[in-house]
Amino acid sequence: MTGETNRFVVEVRRTPQKHDAKTRITNFSEIYADFKPTQATTQSSRCAQCGVPFCQSGCPLQNNIPDWLRMTAEGRYEEAYLLSSATSTLPEICGRICPQDRLCEGSCVLEQSGWENVTIGSVERFLGDMAFENGWIEPIVPVQERGQSIGIIGAGPAGIAAADRLRTLGYKVTIYDRYDRAGGLLTYGIPSFKLEKDVVLRRTDRLAQSGVEYVMNCDIGNDVSFEELREKHDAIMIATGVYKTRRLSVPGCGSQGVVIALDYLTASNRVGFGDTVPDYVSGRLNAEGKNVIVIGGGDTAMDCVRTATRQGAKSVTCVYRRDRANMPGSDREVYNAEEEGVKFEWLSAPMAVLGDAETVTGLKVQRMRLTTPDAQGRQGIEDIAGAENDLPADLIIEALGFEPENIPVMFNEPGLEVTKWGTIKTLAGEFQTLVPGVFAAGDIVRGASLVVWAVREGQDAAADIHHYLQTQLALSLSEAAQ
Ligand code: FAD
Ligand code: SF4
Ligand code: SF4
Repeated sequence: MTGETNRFVVEVRRTPQKHDAKTRITNFSEIYADFKPTQATTQSSRCAQCGVPFCQSGCPLQNNIPDWLRMTAEGRYEEAYLLSSATSTLPEICGRICPQDRLCEGSCVLEQSGWENVTIGSVERFLGDMAFENGWIEPIVPVQERGQSIGIIGAGPAGIAAADRLRTLGYKVTIYDRYDRAGGLLTYGIPSFKLEKDVVLRRTDRLAQSGVEYVMNCDIGNDVSFEELREKHDAIMIATGVYKTRRLSVPGCGSQGVVIALDYLTASNRVGFGDTVPDYVSGRLNAEGKNVIVIGGGDTAMDCVRTATRQGAKSVTCVYRRDRANMPGSDREVYNAEEEGVKFEWLSAPMAVLGDAETVTGLKVQRMRLTTPDAQGRQGIEDIAGAENDLPADLIIEALGFEPENIPVMFNEPGLEVTKWGTIKTLAGEFQTLVPGVFAAGDIVRGASLVVWAVREGQDAAADIHHYLQTQLALSLSEAAQ
């Protein structure tokens, strides 16, 4: 029934149609269909229009969720999209890949009161897709062109979000990236069964049509120095993400049969684009016909296991040293992986890679148990003495997390101070680094995080850059007047 809200008592929560596991592992397409307009309207009408919307507090972008749900329930899709895009530069992407169970939907009061939450992410995705299909999203035409220019290092979500906001304000924007395609981890990390690549492309293309210049295959610090970039632009933003991989350190871990998650996922995404990837062709980064073990319990590990099932692996096992309840990854992704036939070896820590320098034959694991909770309720893990066993494997993928590269050294700029975790330090409550006119945002500031946080920080950093450039302009005008 169009126009009403508060219908959670009569309308059951329904997610968009999810393709069955047997079919979806035969391809790399997204596993959820889009909502049809009637479904989006019905699901939005379940919202209770809370006076204090906890969903909004749970969203890192503080999206105006109840308002755009009401408009969707009333069939006012274009207005709903405009409102959703007022706070987010990538709404249809966040709608697809945010871990909503830990953010907006997990905070929805209906969930807390036993009625099941509103499907906020799916409605947000529906509105963004509809906006593209109906031509409501056009290239940016700034109200006023400004003479100053900004160089952004990194074309991931933080860089894209900042570019969108800065171009809207009328600045000249150039994005530099060492990859050949824009999008950062949206393009080469996250698999297309979670985020199809044309969804990313239409956003990056729109920025190009808006006058944002991309300089690809350009590794700042190698191909062009950071100093040169600073001379060229009035402000710089570093949005380089975190790419130093944490590695396994057990006997045998140097074997050719042990690969790192990002190499594996990037190869798979490149193959999806039609690129020839020698390590995929040779089988090194291809799971077809193999017993595959993925080590790790985060979303990257889930992406690897699910990519392996689609590549036609003989068996896929995830090895994680804690239990399911203590996994850092999204519960939804673990569930999807289980549906697709992935086996989980919980409370198991790698002890040794079996095989030789060329090939692996298995992984020896130590069985663990959780310790008694401490005063704060935290549980550690400890070995179960003598409980070891060997799991067969032809390919082992390490998905143990990422750390920042050494940016001050890479950019030959010691003034860029870093925290003890190697992330770039910014001034309190700001995105300006300790080098004036140089800003930073996204994973390189927060550490490995989420797309929605990169978008938030990219947008906020753009606001700080605007303030800085306007102040600089005012200063130079007042100096000239004296
Ligand atoms: P990035 O996306 O990493 O982009 C940084 C860009 O900077 C890259 O394009 C890189 O090439 C470029 N760059 C780096 N150094 C240089 C240099 N010196 N010169 C030029 N260019 C440079 N988050 C979610 O919310 N949901 C998910 O489902 C999800 N899945 C993930 C799956 C995987 C496999 C991984 C690894 C991460 C996932 N994340 C997910 C996290 C999310 O992708 C990141 O938090 C987000 O992409 C960070 O954005 P960013 O713009 O800071 O960095
Ligand atoms: Fe939820 Fe993410 Fe959208 Fe915020 S951006 S409303 S957390 S899906
Ligand atoms: Fe609607 Fe849930 Fe947000 Fe309340 S918390 S406004 S019911 S989406």
